[in-house]
Amino acid sequence: MKPVIGITSEYGYEDRKKFNRVLTTYTDVILEVGGIPLIIPIVNDKKTINKYLDLIDGLLFTGGEDISPLIYDENPIKEVVDISYDRDSMELELFKRAHERKLPILGICRGLQLINVALGGTLYQDIHAQLPFALGHVSTYDLSGGYHSIEIINDTILYDVLGVRKIDVNSNHHQSIKNLGNDLRINCFSKDGIVEGIESIKNCSFILALQFHPEEMVHRHREFINIFEYFVLHCM
Ligand code: MN
Repeated sequence: MKPVIGITSEYGYEDRKKFNRVLTTYTDVILEVGGIPLIIPIVNDKKTINKYLDLIDGLLFTGGEDISPLIYDENPIKEVVDISYDRDSMELELFKRAHERKLPILGICRGLQLINVALGGTLYQDIHAQLPFALGHVSTYDLSGGYHSIEIINDTILYDVLGVRKIDVNSNHHQSIKNLGNDLRINCFSKDGIVEGIESIKNCSFILALQFHPEEMVHRHREFINIFEYFVLHCM
C-alpha cells in the first residue's frame, strides 16, 4: 500500500481571490518516491484536523511565511512582515496531534521552524539583523542548485540518508533556529554556524527537518531524492 502523505498549504492572494495553495515541487516529489500526496487546507477546527490525521501515514510541513514571534514569547522586529495567524495556529495543532500519534514528520524551511517552535524552541527573527557575522542565506528565484555548503554531523539520520559530510544546498530563508526545541538534535550547519537541519533524537518518533529546499534540487542533484525516499519508507 502506498502511504498517504499530508502536505500543508499556504494562503495565496491573486486578483482579490484567496487560495489554499501548494507548490507542485512538493506534491511531485512525494509522487515520485511512491507516496500519495494529500493537500491539507488551512482549517482551524480540531475535529477536522483529527479527521485529516486519520487519513494520512506521514506529514510534510512546507515552506512559507514567518512564524509569529509571539508564539515563542517575543515581539516582532521590523524585518518580520509576513505572518499568518490562521496558518500558525492550525499547524501548531496539527503538529501536536501528529506527534502524539507518532506519525513520521518531514519539515522544510518554515516547516523546520514550525517544528522547532512547537517543541519549545526559539528562532532568530532575522539572521542578518541579529547575527552580523552570518553569510548569505537569502537567494531567490533559482533554487535548483547549491548556494552555500553545509556540514553534516556523523551518526545522524541526515548522514544516513545522504552519506556525505559536506554538500551544497540552496538557501532562501531569513530566519533560523536560536534555541533548539525538546527531543531534537542538530544534524547540519552552514559555514557560519547557522542550523540547517534538525531531527528527532534516538528512540523518538521520526522527525527530519531541513532549512533548505531539497524538493527544488532533486532534478539537478539526484542525491536529494534520497531524503524523500527515506521519509516515505518510514511512513509505510
Ligand atoms: Mn541557509
